[in-house]
Amino acid sequence: MVLKEEIYKLVQLQDVDSQIYNLKSKKDNEIPKELDNLKNSFETRKKDFDVFSDKLKQLQVKKKEKELDLATKEESVKKSQGQLFQLKSNKEYQAKLTEIASLKADVSLLEEDVIKAMDEIEAADKKAKEEKSALSNEEKKYKDMETQLKNELTEIDAKIKGLEEKKSNLAKDIDKHILARYEKLIKSRYGCAMAPVNIETENCGACNMRVTSQKINEIKMYDQLVLCENCVRILYLPEDFSL
Ligand SMILES: [Zn+2]
Repeated sequence: MVLKEEIYKLVQLQDVDSQIYNLKSKKDNEIPKELDNLKNSFETRKKDFDVFSDKLKQLQVKKKEKELDLATKEESVKKSQGQLFQLKSNKEYQAKLTEIASLKADVSLLEEDVIKAMDEIEAADKKAKEEKSALSNEEKKYKDMETQLKNELTEIDAKIKGLEEKKSNLAKDIDKHILARYEKLIKSRYGCAMAPVNIETENCGACNMRVTSQKINEIKMYDQLVLCENCVRILYLPEDFSL
């Protein structure tokens, strides 16, 4: 086993694993979150619209009640006017006239209420129509976006499948023990087991901590895997592989 070659294979494997890691994170976190946000924001908007529609219905009910009151009062006015001629005394007649005047005042108030309710309904109805059309646009956008994201999920699955195949092809040529160490790191280090050393700044490319010159010399010797003292990833020198 030539360690340098094994490390080169690990670097190639890491490239595939990084792609898999990013795709999985998109599939398991980003896209579901985006889908959730879309759904929530549309449902909030829809709920607002439902509340508004309910208010409109209440206004219509209120108007009907007022119209009914109005009809009843108008009926009473008619009835009282009819009774006027049957009354015997002037006192009763005057009392009836007062009653009619009071009923007529009620009628006029109710007429105002009905007109006011009609104006309110007209304004609310106009707004409801606008909101309904905006909501329907929003729903279309939401559904389109949802389809797009779901298609993206399918594409991601296909890509991951292809990369997994590539990975197993690469992995089968790697020393079992080295591969096992690598896989352990991949799992525990957010999908990143390999850290390139920046030879100029002498830093670990993954965690940015300093890598001593002695460590760099150890890497160049290719006797054993050299790990970053801070993030414990496998260090390598990109220059050695013309990377
Ligand atoms: Zn490090």
